[in-house]
Amino acid sequence: MAKRVYLFNEGSKDDRDLLGGKGANLCEMTTLGLPVPFGFIITTPTCREFFEAGNKLPPLLEQEYRVALDLVEKNMGARFGDPENPLLFSVRSGAPVSMPGMMDTILNLGLNDDIAAGLAKKTDNPRFAYDCYRRFIQMFANVVLEADGEQFEHEIEKYKEQHNKPLDTDMSAEDWQAIIKTFKTLVNFPEDPFVQLKMAVEAVFLSWHTPRAYVYREMNNIPETLGTAVNVQAMVYGNFGDTSGSGVAFTRNPSTGEHEFFGEFLFNAAGEDVVAGTRTPLPLESLKDKLPAVYDELYNTQALLEKHYRDMQDLEFTVQEGRFYMLQTRSGKRTGRASVKIAVDMVNEGLISESEALMRVSPEHVEAFLHPMVDPQAKTDIVATGLPASPGGATGKVVFSADEAVQVAAGGDKVVLVRRETTPEDIHGMKVAEGILTELGGMTSHAAVVARGMGVCAITGCGSLKINYAEGTATTSDGVVIKRGDVITLDGTAGDVMLGDIPKTEASSSDDFQVLLSWADKHRRLKVRANAETPEDAAKARELGAEGIGLCRTEHMFFEAERIDLMRAMILSESKDERQSYLDQLLTFQHDDMLALFKVMDGLPVTVRLLDPPLHEFLPHDDAEIEALAGRIGKSADKIRDIVKDLAEVNPMLGFRGCRLSVVYPEITEMQVKAIISAAVAAIEAGHKPLPEIMIPLVVNVREIRLISEIIDRGIRAVLAEKKISVPYKIGTMMETPRATLGADRLAGEVEFMSFGTNDLTQMTYGFSRDDAGKFIPQYLEKKLVEADPFVSLDQRAVGRLMEMAVNESRARKPGIKYGICGEHGGDPRSIQFCHDLGLDYVSCSPFRVPVARIAAAQAKVKRETGNA
Ligand code: PEP
Ligand code: MG
Repeated sequence: MAKRVYLFNEGSKDDRDLLGGKGANLCEMTTLGLPVPFGFIITTPTCREFFEAGNKLPPLLEQEYRVALDLVEKNMGARFGDPENPLLFSVRSGAPVSMPGMMDTILNLGLNDDIAAGLAKKTDNPRFAYDCYRRFIQMFANVVLEADGEQFEHEIEKYKEQHNKPLDTDMSAEDWQAIIKTFKTLVNFPEDPFVQLKMAVEAVFLSWHTPRAYVYREMNNIPETLGTAVNVQAMVYGNFGDTSGSGVAFTRNPSTGEHEFFGEFLFNAAGEDVVAGTRTPLPLESLKDKLPAVYDELYNTQALLEKHYRDMQDLEFTVQEGRFYMLQTRSGKRTGRASVKIAVDMVNEGLISESEALMRVSPEHVEAFLHPMVDPQAKTDIVATGLPASPGGATGKVVFSADEAVQVAAGGDKVVLVRRETTPEDIHGMKVAEGILTELGGMTSHAAVVARGMGVCAITGCGSLKINYAEGTATTSDGVVIKRGDVITLDGTAGDVMLGDIPKTEASSSDDFQVLLSWADKHRRLKVRANAETPEDAAKARELGAEGIGLCRTEHMFFEAERIDLMRAMILSESKDERQSYLDQLLTFQHDDMLALFKVMDGLPVTVRLLDPPLHEFLPHDDAEIEALAGRIGKSADKIRDIVKDLAEVNPMLGFRGCRLSVVYPEITEMQVKAIISAAVAAIEAGHKPLPEIMIPLVVNVREIRLISEIIDRGIRAVLAEKKISVPYKIGTMMETPRATLGADRLAGEVEFMSFGTNDLTQMTYGFSRDDAGKFIPQYLEKKLVEADPFVSLDQRAVGRLMEMAVNESRARKPGIKYGICGEHGGDPRSIQFCHDLGLDYVSCSPFRVPVARIAAAQAKVKRETGNA
């Protein structure tokens, strides 16, 4: 039988899977000789056993943990359940992957009437003992007995009012005893400490399945099957008086990444008071002033832990009557900026290698360098200031609850979630919010930690705001009233709240970011290109490191004001000659556009895709627009209406689009090719190095490619017959229909490159319309019918299998044929790993995703090299 219970001196940091992250680190700290209150851990496989047995603990488990408990008693010199010399426990969850605040905790476990009296006597502090006892009953009732927490708070408030004791500190031991008596009428509280422990262990296992834990796992791609360990640890007390307290600290600044020890401390408070954010904590300097020896011990401990773990640590500690205890260490959550700075600094300090640094930065975090910031020039009318908890700028309509945030965001509006404080229950609202603003809480409160992790702008501890949920208002100390629905702007970098929509500047890079990107470039195999049509986007993409254009959707070039009428007139033409005359005019525009692109992308490949969308997408559909167009192009409105009707399709996504347009209107293709090649010639003549790649969309078979290649050749010959210049062009095909992937070897025989259009390939593999999937995908996700939205993250099982087959068969026929991807998945880190594994040559994504893709491509390679799947 596998061992189910481990003492803190029996495990190490490498036992995360078995003991959970928190437990593994408690073991590691114990082994390092740090002052950790002793305890034991029930393993994660036990949690799985519990679920498999229909939520029943294994029969022998209690026997096993009682053995461990005896040893903890010996170590601590106190006894569980002994009124003379009581030992109390904290019981906490701890999954292999950190899920801060997501699951349940029970403190002060082991108290009952007798033991509370004993604790009062032993500590000579009845007030403390009965405060602990009432807290325990409250927590136990909430977490284990699933009672309504509000009723306990309500009883306390009622009592305080009746007895005119507004503050907790006004409450005496007798007051708490009276409260406890009332509490016990509300729930069926078990007096036997061993029954309490057993029930708490069950509750912690069950907390794996709370809705907020589900949401968190979904957001962070944490497998459902992991389960949690249970940490049972001897209690120490931060609320024991003025030389006690609780704190949290980071070995480096989690917002900026600066190498400075950073943290917060509350005197005479339990750890939960710091994390819950209900009191605003003091900086660590206050600890240094009042308890310098403790501060020194803390300082040395943090330095040791960071060096030991070779990563920035987030610590929780308690001081009981001047004695320092470590309760937790883990890799600290950090902002995108901080993660990059810390990674680069640690390489420079010789702590980690370049490839380790690359693995430390999440691709999403990179976006922090790319997010808008409130323009300092435009900053006016700051109505309130709080703590700069998570950087960036955000504007949105004020909402006061998570549900409201979801509702308003679903209507298409941006929202700023304003709360007194946030709890894990608010996670669904935080997820959709542009920004988060809280009245209470410090830099390490729930709101701050979660927002930083999500890369959402946040301000916490904004005490000058008074929030009234009932009225839907937040009033500043100057009397400015912000109402539900008002638009406000947050500057999460400075902590400032402003009314209205304040302009934001584009995100700025940093030297560290550039260094990290240069390491990414050094370590990746996949090339990264961008999907871009305009010279501006192309320039941005190049600036962000794109190594070419992987998809220029030429149709986007025809939607602009001066071209659209020509395009429409061309489509509405009733004879070949009429159409040709418009095509000749369009050619000039197309030529100029292409020339501009080639100049920006000098020396880099530019993949130009032939016209793809159904033609009716260009045409007006309402009467007023048709009338107006009729006037502008000299065609009768009735005629236009007839043609529009003719072109209408029942199922345009599977209709007259892609290379089917070239089959029916070869003259359109010829025009596009002439424009591309003549622009390339002009670019060469101007001293540039254009590398055009002409790409055929929506191909299903080899005959299409042959036919269209002839049209392309005709266009090229027409241009080059006049110019004695050689243009290094390539002809390729998109791979975006299942049929194309199934006949890839034959297609490969005809082309020089192939590029997966995974948007269409996903649409056609699933039979999910790209345009309509939004209506049911949320339900599919909620009901777990799909693991992820297949239009966001590549479905490796089926779409991926088609891709794999296509690549293998194409390369068997034509070794080394160039393969890329230009669907949205090209910018999705998980899909990029798949593309790396598949041996594609490049991914192509929107310009702002390029840095993300560079990092993800490097990580994909490092992961494979280190066997870190
Ligand atoms: C695709 O289908 O993946 C693609 C890149 O083309 P579009 O999105 O333009 O259909
Ligand atoms: Mg497509």
